[in-house]
Amino acid sequence: MTKKLYYEDSYLKEATAKILKVKDNALLLDQTIFYPTGGGQPHDTGNINDVKVIDVYKDEEGNIWHVVEEPNLFNVGDKVELKLNWERRYKLMRIHTALHLLDHVFNEVLGKENWQIHGSGMNPEKGRYDVRYPENINQYKEKIIELFNHYVDEGGEVKTWWEGEKRLTQIRDFEILPCGGTHVRDIKEIGHLRKLKRSSIGKGVQRVEIWLE
Ligand SMILES: [Zn+2]
Repeated sequence: MTKKLYYEDSYLKEATAKILKVKDNALLLDQTIFYPTGGGQPHDTGNINDVKVIDVYKDEEGNIWHVVEEPNLFNVGDKVELKLNWERRYKLMRIHTALHLLDHVFNEVLGKENWQIHGSGMNPEKGRYDVRYPENINQYKEKIIELFNHYVDEGGEVKTWWEGEKRLTQIRDFEILPCGGTHVRDIKEIGHLRKLKRSSIGKGVQRVEIWLE
C-alpha cells in the first residue's frame, strides 16, 4: 500500500518517491504527498518531475494512483520528485478545518440536538454544509460568524490520531469527529469568515456556504 506522507505531515510540499506501477495514464508510487479525492476533500494537483498531476485517486486496496499528463515519460523503478500545488492544498486545508469549526459553532448556536448534516462539500474557494434545521438559519447568521471568528482569534490546536483503522480529529476540546482529510495545525490559520450565505435547496434542507478571508 502506498505510504501516505500527507498523514505524517500535512505540510509536506515536496518529496521523492519510487514508481511501483504504471497503468494507462496513472502512476503508483511507494509513497506520496498527494491527497486523493475522498472524505469530501478534492484531490491535490502538482507535478511529478515536470509532468502535471491532473487527478489523484485511491483504489480499493488503499493504493494511491496519480493520473499524469504524459505517462510515457515514466518507467517502473524510476525515482521521481513530487511537488504539490501548495496554494491549492493549503486553501483546502483551511476550508476543510473551517467546516469542522463550523460544525462546532452550529452545535453551540443551533443546539447539538436540533440540526443534522445532510451533506457537505468543499473546493479551494468555499465550503458548504447542507443541513436540516426547523427554522431559517439566516436569523443566526451574525451570531455564527461572530462566534466562528472569535474562536479563530483565540486559536486552538487541531489534533488528529488513529484508533485502529479509524482516523479521528478534534479541535481544542470540542467534539471528536472521524475524518480522513488534511487539516491546519491551529485554527488561527483558518482566518476569519468573510461571508456566509444561506439558501434553501428544498425538502427542508438549507445550504450554508462559507468563504474565508
Ligand atoms: Zn477533517
